[in-house]
Amino acid sequence: MTSKNPQTREWQTLSREHHLAPFSDFKQLKEKGPRIITNAKGVYLWDSEGNKILDGMAGLWCVAIGYGRDELADAASKQMRELPYYNLFFQTAHPPVLELAKAISDIAPEGMNHVFFTGSGSEGNDTMLRMVRHYWAIKGQPKKKVIISRKNGYHGSTVAGASLGGMTYMHEQGDLPIPGIVHIPQPYWFGEGGDMSPEEFGIWAANQLEEKILELGVDTVGAFIAEPIQGAGGVIIPPDSYWPRIKEILAKYDILFVADEVICGFGRTGEWFGSDFYGLKPDMMTIAKGLTSGYIPMGGLIVRDEVVEVLNEGGDFNHGFTYSGHPVAAAVALENIRILREEKIIERVRAETAPYLQKRLRELNDHPLVGEVRGVGLLGAIELVQDKATRARYVGKGVGMICRQFCFDNGLIMRAVGDTMIIAPPLVITKTEIDELVTKARKCLDLTLSALQS
Ligand SMILES: *Cc1c(COP(=O)(O)O)cnc(C)c1O
Repeated sequence: MTSKNPQTREWQTLSREHHLAPFSDFKQLKEKGPRIITNAKGVYLWDSEGNKILDGMAGLWCVAIGYGRDELADAASKQMRELPYYNLFFQTAHPPVLELAKAISDIAPEGMNHVFFTGSGSEGNDTMLRMVRHYWAIKGQPKKKVIISRKNGYHGSTVAGASLGGMTYMHEQGDLPIPGIVHIPQPYWFGEGGDMSPEEFGIWAANQLEEKILELGVDTVGAFIAEPIQGAGGVIIPPDSYWPRIKEILAKYDILFVADEVICGFGRTGEWFGSDFYGLKPDMMTIAKGLTSGYIPMGGLIVRDEVVEVLNEGGDFNHGFTYSGHPVAAAVALENIRILREEKIIERVRAETAPYLQKRLRELNDHPLVGEVRGVGLLGAIELVQDKATRARYVGKGVGMICRQFCFDNGLIMRAVGDTMIIAPPLVITKTEIDELVTKARKCLDLTLSALQS
């Protein structure tokens, strides 16, 4: 690639010589060099070559209120000057973390009024695993240790997070999952539904939970964890029959339900939480990403009152992070939530931009490469296929990566999960920007199809 800016090469050299990047093929990145993103505003990014790119992924699903909001920078700066750090261990606290815990309780589902803070979503899920087992031990049922999760779910990259997740390519590295975590099939009709109708398949997939509970014995199962909508797995929207059936099963057996709201939380579906969208009643919810709009790292676990009452009887919870409830992160999160509320951003997603995005995206259904378009709120997925009728994929072509590259080169970020293209733009995206997104997506589908035919 010829470079317009000599600094691009310098930065790429620094990358080659000093940086180990997350979720990257080190050798390949060394040869190619990363694209350098230098600044951003609203829903747009700019790279070091001056290219303007519409960020269809809100960073990594997190930049809810868009880039470049001075209020968040000001909140961080003010807090840094006042109290840049103090810990919450050993019976101390500070105002921002307490105010944030209250603000989150106000928007969380009824009966969920306590928050344990972490530095990330992964740490939130690590906290969950230890808290679930601690909870059952306090209740005199220490054998209820197993956490049931789902294949192709994503719950983070720490040892517990990657074990809870159902990504086999992650399990292969580091001898995972750790003991006590088992996975059931995912409700991914397009990929795995075979000849069943979506509704039949949804019931089948939900019933796998009951079968697993019975197989293991309910006295050994502590919790079931799931994303309301699987994000990193490919924006997998369960068939309408899935969650109601799961709710019946959860009501029948004495296990905890953990909703991983790291992607769905803070407005992505047009409701505050994915659990609100599906009418779920979780005992714990993992949060991160949209909590601070990604401006600063922070995660947490929201816990139901009944669970807290049990934990209150258990003495010390021997768990916490140096940066649990960091005051600067808490101040930024508070400001982020204030903006989401006062500017009625989630209401606008629900009433206006989500219906519009979903309508416009579905227009891509007529494209010869497209086997299905699905989405909820400001989440969308486009399945790329060779044969629309049979849902057959192109084999061995890496169609998703080809399309992703065309997107990048044409000023749009869409992510490829295998041959599924996914989007999750900032919640502040306008209708005009949605038009631009869909126009660019169609162009890149055309380019991908021509590349496949040549
Ligand atoms: C991103 C993600 C996580 C992990 O969060 P990190 O902040 O990257 O540790 C956990 N669960 C879900 C659903 C996620 O999308």
